[in-house]
Amino acid sequence: MEPSGSIDIVVLGAGPAALCIAAALCERGVAVQGLAPEDPATPWPNTYGIWGPEVDELRLQHLLGHRWHDTCSYFGDRLATPAVAHGIDYGLLDKTALQQHWWQPCQSAGMPWIRGRAVAIEHDAAGSVVITEAGERLRARLVIDASGHHSPFVQRPDEGPVAGQAAYGIVGRFSAPPVDPGQFVLMDYRCDHLSEAQRRCAPPTFLYAMDFGEGVFFAEETSLALAPAVPYDVLKDRLLRRLALRGISVEEVQHEEFCLFPMNHPLPDLQQRVVGFGGSASMVHPASGYMVGSLLRRAPALADAIATGLKDPPAGGQQLAALAWQALWPLELQRRHALYRFGLEKLMRFSESQLRAHFTTFFSLPREQWFGFLTNTLSLPALIAAMVRLFVLAPWSVKAGLMGMQGRELQLALRMLRP
Ligand SMILES: Cc1cc2nc3c(=O)[nH]c(=O)nc-3n(C[C@H](O)[C@H](O)[C@H](O)COP(=O)(O)OP(=O)(O)OC[C@H]3O[C@@H](n4cnc5c(N)ncnc54)[C@H](O)[C@@H]3O)c2cc1C
Repeated sequence: MEPSGSIDIVVLGAGPAALCIAAALCERGVAVQGLAPEDPATPWPNTYGIWGPEVDELRLQHLLGHRWHDTCSYFGDRLATPAVAHGIDYGLLDKTALQQHWWQPCQSAGMPWIRGRAVAIEHDAAGSVVITEAGERLRARLVIDASGHHSPFVQRPDEGPVAGQAAYGIVGRFSAPPVDPGQFVLMDYRCDHLSEAQRRCAPPTFLYAMDFGEGVFFAEETSLALAPAVPYDVLKDRLLRRLALRGISVEEVQHEEFCLFPMNHPLPDLQQRVVGFGGSASMVHPASGYMVGSLLRRAPALADAIATGLKDPPAGGQQLAALAWQALWPLELQRRHALYRFGLEKLMRFSESQLRAHFTTFFSLPREQWFGFLTNTLSLPALIAAMVRLFVLAPWSVKAGLMGMQGRELQLALRMLRP
């Protein structure tokens, strides 16, 4: 039997995207119901990093579990290469605090959560019905699918291979510190632990590492993006070799992180009835892999549009979905997404030395430009200006790589004009 229809929105999932949008809707008085296989209070498996000014801007600095002032990268090939200081704080979110931050408004609103998995979604003029594995039917005016990057319910065009950001990391104790005390290293591209042949042929990877304090460090070997993704055993081998060259061995593994998610998913079809949020809606930044900052910045506009659409005269199911997609992916953000995907396509073709030269130039841009680029907070004209400046400043090896149009690059470039 279908419930009476008092629920406005069913949210699928209990990850960061689901809790974020559920909280924003509850705060606006929308009647929301959650559906996820696990309890929404279950701890999330991933560690979530974010730049300090992003949380400062949102007045959420208290949600950071760690904050580093000494932030840097290495773009030279030798161990003796000096660090490039970033001069911007970086933080790791306290996952329990973030979860609580979103969970609390849901609880205050008495939002019901059902344990289960969606297996099908049906639509009619008034709204949609989610069918669960157990055969329950959950009716609502609109379904928001926040069930992650591989949702079967959110349709997007097939534009060829999707690149994955892959990483293998260890949280633990090491025989010597993998980074300086109190330091955060965004990208360490030094590669003297690799043979000549590996440098020439193997996909470039870098170390992402930080000091957690009290003798505990996080060291993660990461591939920015590649299709197919770099396998975990290759990443693990590279991490251990990198550490070994510095005379460092792993003494205690407290946690292993296996990271893999799509970086350059095409935008979803914005006419469809199911509305995505988070990984399902291609919200991962195609150049950096970050998403949590975007969730925090973009949930209010989506929730506002839905709350408005539900008011008198209430929008029909199709119209409500269209309003929601429009609020989540306005034209400006669609164009920026196209630009980022175009840029990533270039980077994926770069050799290790081209990548090192590219990032050296990128981080020599004025701070507000590279920070705005990485956090997707520049306007479209400002983003284009940053990219033009990058091109002008880049050495010829990088310019040559940026100019050649191979594969689907032209198609992606045209998307900027007509997403
Ligand atoms: C290891 C790792 C590290 C990352 N690090 C960062 C980082 O540092 N900073 C950053 O900004 N981003 C990071 N990301 C990228 C991105 O933020 C994460 O992938 C994020 O978890 C995506 O959030 P989500 O809520 O969209 O999906 P998920 O976190 O994948 O959550 C999906 C939810 O949907 C549920 N679900 C699945 N199927 C169904 C179904 N059929 N019905 C109902 N519920 C369902 C799942 O059980 C889960 O609760 C990382 C990703 C990974 C994998």
